[in-house]
Amino acid sequence: MNNIYQKIQAKIPKYGEYVFLLLLILISVFSTTLYNLSKEKIVNEYQELFENIYFKQTVNTIFSSTQPRFLSIKYLVKSGDSLNSILSGLKVPSDEIKIIVKKLPSKIIHVNMKIDLLIDTKSGKIIELIYPISRIKKIVLTKNKENLFERKEVVTELTKKLVYKEGIIRSSLYKSAKNLNVEDSIIVDLANLYGFQIDFQRDIYKNDSFEILYEKFINEEEKIKETGNIIFANLILRGQKNPLYYFNDNNKSTGHYDPNGASVKKALMKTPINGARLSSSFGMRKHPILGYNKLHRGTDFAAPKGTPVMASGDGIIIKARWCGGGGNCVKIKHNSTYQTVYAHLSGFGRSIKKGVRVKQGRIIGYVGSTGMSTGPHLHYEVIKNGKRINSQKLKLPSGKILKGEERKRFEVQRIKVDVLKSEIISLIN
Ligand SMILES: [Zn+2]
Repeated sequence: MNNIYQKIQAKIPKYGEYVFLLLLILISVFSTTLYNLSKEKIVNEYQELFENIYFKQTVNTIFSSTQPRFLSIKYLVKSGDSLNSILSGLKVPSDEIKIIVKKLPSKIIHVNMKIDLLIDTKSGKIIELIYPISRIKKIVLTKNKENLFERKEVVTELTKKLVYKEGIIRSSLYKSAKNLNVEDSIIVDLANLYGFQIDFQRDIYKNDSFEILYEKFINEEEKIKETGNIIFANLILRGQKNPLYYFNDNNKSTGHYDPNGASVKKALMKTPINGARLSSSFGMRKHPILGYNKLHRGTDFAAPKGTPVMASGDGIIIKARWCGGGGNCVKIKHNSTYQTVYAHLSGFGRSIKKGVRVKQGRIIGYVGSTGMSTGPHLHYEVIKNGKRINSQKLKLPSGKILKGEERKRFEVQRIKVDVLKSEIISLIN
């Protein structure tokens, strides 16, 4: 018992030393942190101050004693700013401003544009200036050893991301996709893809659904810069799947194909208007005048006035003028078999007139309510061998069908996309 006590007593002074040492270390660490914190605070305060008062003459004298040598500024362009006014506001010497202005496209300056500057606070001279000229390009001016500006164009790296979305169509494809935050450009592309095979006003029913896998390009700040291709899409109409796969075969035969390797593109479209923009896709179907019947002999698409109307297929315009009950109308001859008519237009597309050759998808006019019409809509007729036929029942052979080696490469790509899709779905669920 006694023995143990003595041992402990003997150790106490040793422990005491350790404790003292530890305390010393702690105190020094603590005080350095405090010092650093206050230093950081001072710099921050000065930066704020600098940004607030840079218009004042006193700026140089304030900073001459305590300022950090280099000051980095993120300047947000305000209305009325010019490169000249910004730089002179920052007290950059006028001879240097002249040089900088010559090296940059000063006209592209716009509100909310961000200019990064690194300034030598002693001389007021610019060490580095970063000037964005497009969404992905910027000009970097850097002072070299000879005190001259070196000009470099830097392209921001964009990373490709794949986005998968699936949804049920409650009111329209556009609204459902929009609710899932699908970008407008992708919704328009999606509607255009299916415009060949689907009548957007009559083939889509409430609770039909869709799946979509598409590319998105983002920059370092994780902001979307651009949307890319739709890699996969599937419009499920009353239980029937309509899958489409994107195929890029070294830029040959690039496009969307069904699982059998048939191109989505056909000689004529079922919906010669962007389906995404069509108003109230259900309901309209029941309207007596909307849809094909023996008296009507055309298909009507209710859409807001001004919605662009596309040439359903390649062809020559044989009519683009007022045609009585049809109001402003356009007639296109596609080949010896098919012609199409577009009526009630509010106006014609640019340089659309008789004799002009048009490509499929070209804007030939805009939805209106001219002639005998009760509201803005497109009246669309397909004429086969001189007889008006129901565009809904139009069965056209697919444009291109992938064959041989091309088909094999497509199959590989299709399987890859299917695997990718199920991987993403399993990640979500
Ligand atoms: Zn009609």
